[in-house]
Amino acid sequence: MCKNKESKLKLVGKRKSISPKIRFEVFKRDNHKCQYCGATPRDEGVVLEVDHIVPVYEGGDNSFENLITSCKQCNIGKGKRKITDKNYISLKEKELKETDEKREQLQAYLKSRLDKTEEIKPLIDYINHMIEINTGFKFTVADPMVNKFLNLYKKLDMQEFVEVIEDTDFSSAEFLGNFTKNEKAKYNADLFITNIENNLKKSIKNKKQGVVSLSGYLRGILKNRTTGWGDVWEISKDINNILRPISAREDKIKILQEKLIPLAKEIPQNNQYLQCYLQLEQICKTTKESKRF
Ligand SMILES: [Zn+2]
Repeated sequence: MCKNKESKLKLVGKRKSISPKIRFEVFKRDNHKCQYCGATPRDEGVVLEVDHIVPVYEGGDNSFENLITSCKQCNIGKGKRKITDKNYISLKEKELKETDEKREQLQAYLKSRLDKTEEIKPLIDYINHMIEINTGFKFTVADPMVNKFLNLYKKLDMQEFVEVIEDTDFSSAEFLGNFTKNEKAKYNADLFITNIENNLKKSIKNKKQGVVSLSGYLRGILKNRTTGWGDVWEISKDINNILRPISAREDKIKILQEKLIPLAKEIPQNNQYLQCYLQLEQICKTTKESKRF
């Protein structure tokens, strides 16, 4: 942080202000929680500050590793008391654990991408097969098209992809009159592939507009009408939780449209968030049990 040795010497024992960006990074790393007592800004009257682990008067600097989130109360009451080694070690352990978790998530993500690359093969085989039985000619989807399909498939699951293939009509090319049987087959195959591509895009669009946008709408209603929720992101997580017992996407859309959103709209202003959450959760549970979908 210091440009030369001279300025570093001057800084010892002096307090240099911490930039807002560093402050924010420290808060973020510490999950916006006082690392001494666990208070968060959600608790009444809590103000978070950035504190030095090794105090400035002992030569502690403003490096990221020497800064820690503390509430104002702890920061004042603490005086010259240093953070206990135990606290500091558990914080470092937590950081390492988070790094491990992030790495695992990334690996799982990469694996799922590889799986999609593998899974596309039987799907392409299926398309080739459909063309063959409809035209009588052996057909192979060209590589650039396979890549296009793969990119679309990343946004869908296998069942959805199969449904699109099966729902796509295979048109006849009788109007091609003088064309040879081979040429007609080629024309039909190309048309079939283009139609599958368009239907996949439609399917992805519907999927996006479905659960995600309806959940967003529900979140907005809850956010505006209730009090006592943590942050908007938490409401999103809760909605996902509520919907978890409903497995099929269509059923999720249906229950959002017909039950959850209408109920949320009836919530009187300033209702308790938790109470509403429990009510919405109950609806999904009973719907699942009664197997009405
Ligand atoms: Zn505290």
